[in-house]
Amino acid sequence: MRPPWRFRGEPLALEWVADGWHLRFVQPYRATKVYRCPGCDQEILPRTLHVVVWPEGEASQRRHWHKACWERRFAELRRAGRRGRPAT
Ligand SMILES: [Zn+2]
Repeated sequence: MRPPWRFRGEPLALEWVADGWHLRFVQPYRATKVYRCPGCDQEILPRTLHVVVWPEGEASQRRHWHKACWERRFAELRRAGRRGRPAT
């Protein structure tokens, strides 16, 4: 059984692959632009810790997410997986 996708403690320089998703933290000092989070359709403001996620091997599909939004979406994907839907 895989560990749940939760982030605690110091997230600096963290990069992670789970269930075919590649995730990278964007540290506040490197977040200089405004992005729109696909999870909540709200803006991610500069200088906010957030994450970049893409399907493994498809870096052109990178999306910036609020950390909490991705955790919620990832939990949904895992639940969907348990219902037998193929992973994307
Ligand atoms: Zn969001």
